[in-house]
Amino acid sequence: MNLFRITAEVWNDFLLNIFPAVCINCNTTLVRNEQYICSKCKIALPRTNDYLDPTNRLFQKFAYEPKVKHVSSFLDYNKHGIARKLIHSLKYRGEMDIGLMLGRIYGEDLRKTGKLRPDIIFPVPLHHRKLKKRGYNQSEMIALGLSESLEVEVDTDILIRKTYTSTQTKKSRVSRWENVGNVFEVVSPELLYNKRVMLVDDVLTTGATMGSLASQIAKCDVHEIYLVAMAAGS
Ligand SMILES: [Zn+2]
Repeated sequence: MNLFRITAEVWNDFLLNIFPAVCINCNTTLVRNEQYICSKCKIALPRTNDYLDPTNRLFQKFAYEPKVKHVSSFLDYNKHGIARKLIHSLKYRGEMDIGLMLGRIYGEDLRKTGKLRPDIIFPVPLHHRKLKKRGYNQSEMIALGLSESLEVEVDTDILIRKTYTSTQTKKSRVSRWENVGNVFEVVSPELLYNKRVMLVDDVLTTGATMGSLASQIAKCDVHEIYLVAMAAGS
């Protein structure tokens, strides 16, 4: 261990003594090796266990796309729950490491099944203007966590977002479906030939974004598509 690292650790401990980090969910002071949430809340995360049921309620949403073989959400996104707090901090408070943490935990769950073996992981891309504004793509952080556990590369060059849709959340459900139609582009479709593609998003709501992307990816003669979200409404 070098001197710089020791100094950094001492400094971090010093800061934590003055401003102790607390659990996002229950506000108890975090101890060493805990990040964002305490061990108690981590164990109590509202897992959907969707991934254990191949024909779950989310999978039904994408039944029209035959290449989609797996759809799952890690957590239940109920209104006042911990999933909402975590995703909110990840998206709007700059806590990008929450994405890594969630991705790693869910990646472990998925790895243990031994059934999902993607060749490539795509985060749902942000438009470059939004990326500049936020500083990072929250779905990419999740994808990187999944990538560590599943030992699969994340790609952010093949799939891009062409259109800037900043007011999407304010639009009605119908116009949202129309809106996502030509938003994304697969830059090098030949690179996806016969590949098992995992597509990662933070929250799955209507399924419009994931559905539109899945259809575009399916056209590239991929082998299979897996849709994975960190949270979905019940
Ligand atoms: Zn807690």
